[in-house]
Amino acid sequence: MQSKTKILLIYTGGTIGMSKDFETGALVAFNFSQLLQHVPELKLLDCQIETVSFETPIDSSNMNPEILGTLASIIQDNYTKFDGFVVLHGSDTMAYTASALSFMFENLSKPVILTGSQLPIGDLRTDAKENLITAIQVASLRENGRSVIQEVCLYFEYKLYRGNRTTKVNAEHFQAFNSPNYPSLVESGVHLKTNRSLLLKVDSQEKLKVQFTLNTNVAILKLFPGISEVVLAAMLSIKGLKGIVLETYGSGNAPTEEWFLTLIENAIKNGLHVINVTQCPAGSVMMGQYETSTGLKNSGVISGKDITTEAAITKLMYLLEQDHDDADFKVLFEKSLRGELTD
Ligand code: ASP
Repeated sequence: MQSKTKILLIYTGGTIGMSKDFETGALVAFNFSQLLQHVPELKLLDCQIETVSFETPIDSSNMNPEILGTLASIIQDNYTKFDGFVVLHGSDTMAYTASALSFMFENLSKPVILTGSQLPIGDLRTDAKENLITAIQVASLRENGRSVIQEVCLYFEYKLYRGNRTTKVNAEHFQAFNSPNYPSLVESGVHLKTNRSLLLKVDSQEKLKVQFTLNTNVAILKLFPGISEVVLAAMLSIKGLKGIVLETYGSGNAPTEEWFLTLIENAIKNGLHVINVTQCPAGSVMMGQYETSTGLKNSGVISGKDITTEAAITKLMYLLEQDHDDADFKVLFEKSLRGELTD
C-alpha cells in the first residue's frame, strides 16, 4: 500500500495563525500543535500533516535575511522526510519571502507553498481555512511518485501563483495578491485546475542546493518627475552599496539630463550593479525602445525585463553573495533562474 503524502506545515507568524479570544476580543497567536483541533477539516485530507512553529512568530514586516535563513534551514533539514512544505506567513512581505526562497533553493523538486490570510483562522468570515486547506491539497498533488508542483509558490484566494511573480496589491480584499506578468499555475474551483504547461520543469537528477545567506548592501530607488541630483548622488554613493534596483517609467525610461546619466555611468564604472525595473504594475523593460532608455542601456544598466521589484531585489541579494565578475553578473541577472522573468 502506498503511504500517505507527508506535508510539513511551518508557521512563521502573521494573521492566519491567530485566534480571537472571545472574552477580550483580542487576537492572540494560538499553539500550532493544536492546529487539528482548530481546523478539524484537516483530518479529512488524504495526507499526513506535521506542524512546526517559529519559537517567536513574527509579523511579516519584521522578516529579514537572517530569519529567511532559519526558514530555509527548517525546510532543508526536513527535505527528505516530507513530500511538500506549506509555509504560513503574514501577507505583507509574503511576495518577498516567496521570491527570496525561490532563489535560495536551487533544483527544488518538492513544493514549497506560502499562504496566509487577511482574517485570522478563528474569525467567522475567515479566508484562512480555504487558503490553508487548498495550499495543503496543492502541495500534496502527486503523479508517478513525484510532486506535481516543484517550485516555490504562493496560494491565496483560489489561485496558486509562482511565488517570484507575485506582488501584494490590496491591504483589505481577500484577493490580496496578483501575478501581473505570469498566469496562475492552479485555480481552485469545484476542481483544482492545474495549468501544467506553466509549471517549472526541474531536472530531477540534480541535487538540491541551498544558499542560506543574502547580501543586504542593496537599495531600491523609485524615480519621480523632480528627482534631484543630490538625491541620486547620495543614493549611489552609499558606503558599501553593491547593487540598486532603479524603478523607472514605462518600458524602462528615465530622464536624459546629463547629470542623471553621468551619475549612473560613473556608479556602474565603480562596480555598482544597477537594475532597471519598471514601476508599472505590469509589462516589461525594453531598453533602447525610446531615446529615454538608450543612455541607460549604453551605460551597462542591467535589464530586469518583466521581473517584479520583489523578485529583483531578492535576486540581487542572492547573486551578490556569489562570486561573479560584472559581465557574468549581468548575464545571470538577465536570464531566468527560477522562472522569475520572461527570457
Ligand atoms: N501584518 C500582517 C503580516 O504581514 C498581515 C498579515 O498577516 O496578513 O504579518
